[in-house]
Amino acid sequence: MTRDEQPIQADLILTGASQVVPFSDLPHGAVGEAVAEGTVRDGAVACRDGRIVFVGTAAACRREVELKDGGEEMDCAGQVILPGLIDAHTHLPFAGERAAEFRLRLAGKSYEEIAAAGGGILATVSATRAATDDELLIGCRTRMDRMLAFGVTTAEAKSGYGLSRDQELRLLRVVARAHDGHPLDLVPTLLAAHVLPPEFKDRRDAYVDLIIREIIPAAAREKLARFCDVFIEDGAFNAAEARAILMAARGAGMGLRVHVDQLTAGGGAELAAELGAASADHLEHVSREGMRALAAAGTVAVLLPAVDLFLRKTAYPPVAALLAAGVDVALATDCNPGSCMTENLPLAASLACLTTGLDTDDALAGITARAARSLRLEDRGTLELGSAADLAVFAVADRAAILYHFGINHCRTVVKNGKLVVRDGIPD
Ligand SMILES: [Zn+2]
Repeated sequence: MTRDEQPIQADLILTGASQVVPFSDLPHGAVGEAVAEGTVRDGAVACRDGRIVFVGTAAACRREVELKDGGEEMDCAGQVILPGLIDAHTHLPFAGERAAEFRLRLAGKSYEEIAAAGGGILATVSATRAATDDELLIGCRTRMDRMLAFGVTTAEAKSGYGLSRDQELRLLRVVARAHDGHPLDLVPTLLAAHVLPPEFKDRRDAYVDLIIREIIPAAAREKLARFCDVFIEDGAFNAAEARAILMAARGAGMGLRVHVDQLTAGGGAELAAELGAASADHLEHVSREGMRALAAAGTVAVLLPAVDLFLRKTAYPPVAALLAAGVDVALATDCNPGSCMTENLPLAASLACLTTGLDTDDALAGITARAARSLRLEDRGTLELGSAADLAVFAVADRAAILYHFGINHCRTVVKNGKLVVRDGIPD
């Protein structure tokens, strides 16, 4: 700042951090070097009116930034400041838990066998349909509180356990209610094409038709879903059905995300790329052509490493090849009662590192900047002037320790839209 310039006014300053990691100006594919280069040591972040107004060293902050009357300055010595974390793939609204099924799987039954015997997703569908709106809301809020404590300030939330017009719309309305008045932002996704509902067991075409002719238009009319998703897999929906549903959703103004290539290779990534999907999720069995197509289309790969662990699968997504192909890689929990019962996003990132060899800086970008990109959110996921003042502060001196010391919560402070919402590990 020169002598004539006015100081930057701020209402919240976080300073003295051992590292501030902005994740700005990242290249496509691998980002480890760019993240390291952009990291500010002895750093500070200042916010005003819910936006970031300064990112730099603590010394520059002292020179250039002035705390407004009534503002707050927080000493972050020995801690790391990241953008608020973003969980790009969750099945947030549901009722019932499946601990008994967890034990069956440990005893040797496969996910597919349990589903074929009436368990699996359809067990959650029954419990969800039977739950009241308020019960569903409380379930969402409880999970959101846990996510926020881990430093998550934005999460995607899919429907998909209703599987009828009224039930799917009801779940999306619950998501909207859960979002209102909670510090964590939710990005709603319509996943009516999760599995075939039991009522349509021998009438696949009729259900696909219902999604296209009734559920998508109704969700669009009420502005309940920013994205539409389809589970493309044996036992769920095939590529032709997915294409019809996704094209209808695109026509109704929704962005697209798809569950693809999880249990079998099915050309799902190619379809996601062809339709211009924002994200292709899972990708354990993605093909070479699929990777090239994702990179060319700018479709973000959302990997769900905690699912592989939870399902005891050892076919991990080919992360190194995806990055080498120039694909942007995000990581998410897939929080859901059947295949991944956790809200712990940093744990999912640790597991990505441990199972695939992903670099810790690529993993941290995967739960911040890359996750934001997969949700087409341009105002968050990085620490840049004008970005949303969403911050997560971790009690570690080096950012890699967030993932290295795994399974516990290092997050002490969370800022959402410039307001302290978690202080010293306690919701404010
Ligand atoms: Zn999922």
